[in-house]
Amino acid sequence: MKKYKELNPSLRTIMTPGPVEVDPRVLRAMSFPILGQFDPEFTSLMNETMELVRDVFQTNNQWSYPVDGTSRSGLEAVLVSIIQPGDKVLVPIYGRFGHLLVEIAERCGADVVHIETEWGGVFDPETVIEAIHEHKPGIVAMVHGETSTGQMQPLAEIGRTCRELDILLVVDAVATIGGVPVETDNWMLDAVMGGTQKCISVPSGMAPITYNDRIERKLLSRKRVERGLRDPANVELANDGQMIRSNYFDLSQIQDYWSAARLNHHTEATSMLYALHEGLRILLEEGLEARFLRHELNARALVQGVKGMGLTLFGNEESKLTCVTCINIPEGIDGEAVRSRLLHDFGIEIASSFGPLKGKIWRIGTMGFSCNQKNVLHTLGALEAVLIREGYRLPAGEAVQAALDVYSVVNKEGISC
Ligand SMILES: *Cc1c(COP(=O)(O)O)cnc(C)c1O
Repeated sequence: MKKYKELNPSLRTIMTPGPVEVDPRVLRAMSFPILGQFDPEFTSLMNETMELVRDVFQTNNQWSYPVDGTSRSGLEAVLVSIIQPGDKVLVPIYGRFGHLLVEIAERCGADVVHIETEWGGVFDPETVIEAIHEHKPGIVAMVHGETSTGQMQPLAEIGRTCRELDILLVVDAVATIGGVPVETDNWMLDAVMGGTQKCISVPSGMAPITYNDRIERKLLSRKRVERGLRDPANVELANDGQMIRSNYFDLSQIQDYWSAARLNHHTEATSMLYALHEGLRILLEEGLEARFLRHELNARALVQGVKGMGLTLFGNEESKLTCVTCINIPEGIDGEAVRSRLLHDFGIEIASSFGPLKGKIWRIGTMGFSCNQKNVLHTLGALEAVLIREGYRLPAGEAVQAALDVYSVVNKEGISC
């Protein structure tokens, strides 16, 4: 048999908008022994995980649990479970992930209407509200933090309008959850879908979601009732909707698996659940406020450093997404050559971008475990060195000094980053 080398991945500094570095305590949790999925030890871990998810999503929703799969599994599970063919869905787009919501909604058979604003900004909430009045959708789906453009959409006013008009508002908070406030209940969001590998800093492979009773009513109206096992209480509900077009992503079944009834659906991803439980525990131990502040301060230091070396930011700074910093690639510089040198000479990974922004901007993530003073200073120092190597003229030394200025004020206040 061919001999394969022992797995030995390099130790990187990961400054992309996901996946990011993971706390060794989370990695250790993933190596713990397997428990059976109905073992009381495991089911109590599932219950605790639901409590942790509620706290991070700032909600009292009973249904707050992870879907197994990458973040888009959460998006797809919610959309396929609530959209009936022909339902009108409004998607306001301000970057790549808005297009993903359109694609998924279309595959669910929705009648999708979208509005789009130029990449690099967000919507004035009034613009979305006008579109809601004009198109009268049953569902509005939108992105909270656009990783592709580094922008964050304010949601509270849109949430209030949707509630008043009895429209379901579902939100992709994959990039924001655990890094900036996501106030599910206060903003009146009906369903919120998160991800693990960004600010929560757990490996990719689960999608924590939460949804309220307005969503649950829709699920139950579409619940598939097994012949012979009919629950009389469900028959009427089961008959007025159309069957959910997915087995794996059928939230009406998945919630029965997470409920006290523990009706078998899939086999829970044991080691990922350990990881999520530990990652959320670490997150809440740090505290939501402290964590949001850490994300903000490191991003501020990064931004000051980037400007200090004479580079400019892409996008509207007023609506900047804290945990993703987009930088215009200077004229005459090969963006991919810079990324490659950063990776190979310094072991640092930063991201490029998609679609119309490909080759035009770099994106630097400051998320979760990767979001710290050491990583920000290393990245700035390395980026400066690489840019000089690539022939870009800049005020040498200014970047790290500008970031250190931010940290020295912060550290004096007793805040560690
Ligand atoms: C990363 C990301 C996704 C997709 O996540 P996967 O884990 O790759 O499926 C969706 N939406 C947003 C806003 C993201 O940042």
